[in-house]
Amino acid sequence: MLGLMQDQGLLISSLIEFADRNHGDAPIVSRRVEGDIHRYTYRDAAGRARRVANALDADAIEQGERVATLAWNGYRHFELYFGVSGSGRVLHTLNPRLAPDQVVWIANHAEDRVLCFDMSFLPLVKAVWQRCTTVRKWVALCEADALPADSGIDGLVSYEAWIGAASDRYTWPALDERTAASLCYTSGTTGNPKGALYSHRSTVLHAFAAALPDAMSLSARDSVLPVVPMFHVNAWGTPYAAAMTGAKLVFPGGALDGKSVYELIESEGVTLAAGVPTVWLGLLNHMAQAGARFSTLQRTVIGGSACPPAMIHTFKEQYGVAVLHAWGMTEMSPLGTVCNLKGKQLALPPDEQMKTLVKQGRAIYGVDMKIVDPEGRELPWDGQASGDLLVKGPWIISSYFKGEGGDPLRDGWFPTGDVATIDADGFLQITDRSKDVIKSGGEWISSIDIENIAMAHPAVAMAACIAVPHPKWDERPLLVVMPKPGTHPDRADILRFYEGRVAKWQVPDDVVFVDAIPLGATGKMQKMKLREQFRDHVLPAAG
Ligand code: AMP
Repeated sequence: MLGLMQDQGLLISSLIEFADRNHGDAPIVSRRVEGDIHRYTYRDAAGRARRVANALDADAIEQGERVATLAWNGYRHFELYFGVSGSGRVLHTLNPRLAPDQVVWIANHAEDRVLCFDMSFLPLVKAVWQRCTTVRKWVALCEADALPADSGIDGLVSYEAWIGAASDRYTWPALDERTAASLCYTSGTTGNPKGALYSHRSTVLHAFAAALPDAMSLSARDSVLPVVPMFHVNAWGTPYAAAMTGAKLVFPGGALDGKSVYELIESEGVTLAAGVPTVWLGLLNHMAQAGARFSTLQRTVIGGSACPPAMIHTFKEQYGVAVLHAWGMTEMSPLGTVCNLKGKQLALPPDEQMKTLVKQGRAIYGVDMKIVDPEGRELPWDGQASGDLLVKGPWIISSYFKGEGGDPLRDGWFPTGDVATIDADGFLQITDRSKDVIKSGGEWISSIDIENIAMAHPAVAMAACIAVPHPKWDERPLLVVMPKPGTHPDRADILRFYEGRVAKWQVPDDVVFVDAIPLGATGKMQKMKLREQFRDHVLPAAG
């Protein structure tokens, strides 16, 4: 027997319509890339999202086709989140920090039809547009009179002219809730980047979960600052969860330095901020130098890389701000766990609480997790046994976009590539990573890419790229090179080889030369041994 409840799909359009009707006057504040502050409301955003939908209809962009963005966090990007997905197209958030060749590869793989970009990315667009073979329309996120006349880009229009010509009345389609809504590529795994394709259902369920008290605890009394970019897994779902709850939204644009972030927190009464550890390091440095205090900030969600215990301590002890350490992945929409204490832990002394607060936290309802040994046998939740971490749930991928890489699941579980312990209270702690990648300032560097480039150098016999710990960026790449017999390459010579081949921040900080790289039984480089050997390697100061 079926239940007799209304069968209404979980759709992204319902979030913006709900926001319009129930908290239409709640503010959305953005620092524009031009530097000034823009203010409007959810009601304004909803009307303009409807204009986006009409503009896409007028351009005959088909259902399911990809509309890409190269943009910082701001109100126009927010409108695209709802106008594109809500009308049945797929929002593809490109990462503008990638090298032009990488952007071209991803845009072509995604078969983007429209690409909307912040004016600060005009040089990048000029470098790529002729090679993005599927893009028919380029939209500069600016006023009509700010559009450069001599850009040379075919089909370039200003966003304001584009949506200004469209009506703000629109009937959102009643899509199947499993319809694709947004697409985000990750280079976290080896090989080419792969796309995680979120659905309306997964996005709305994730927003419900993100707003829960033991997750981010979002409400209409909050002022939320997503410093995490909207091109990084939809800013961890904060735009959707904010629309759902009526929280004031504060967008930082591209100004992510400590001073700018601090000023925005103070001027907009921010209560909750979310971002990777590197951003908070900049903020804390600024606070210490300026002798500044927070007057409204209550909590920060920190994830994307391990949050150093000292940072959790400083936020709490010096500034009275609670850190919610979170763990997740692009493939998980991204939230998996958030660290909030249980009631029984509140009476513990502060240093005992800290032992838990440095962990990555407990699973949110919707995420099932387990740790397994190399044979796939489940390990106990005793806080000691450490094993490969597997997850499943309705906002975790079942396959990558276009089936790339084959079936990623193991008996229905997604292997995260992280190694972890889970304690008896369900608190996860990431202890290592089995995947071969480097995470610097919250951004991936594929060690395989870096090695392949080195291997093309005439004097390199074998090359291994490993992560070494770094105080600011968490990890930085070190290249270990075994030269070809009779050759004597030098550091500068090898590093020059990366120019123009990868983004500057992906170039290794240092090169060391060895007689041999340790190999395992199957001929695979033993990176663990190298990581151990170079654990204390001192990188040049510029790194
Ligand atoms: P991404 O797909 O870019 O979100 O990266 C996901 C990966 O980042 C995870 O699989 C982890 O390896 C790493 N990661 C994310 N959050 C944390 C965290 N809080 N602590 C340690 N590693 C993390």
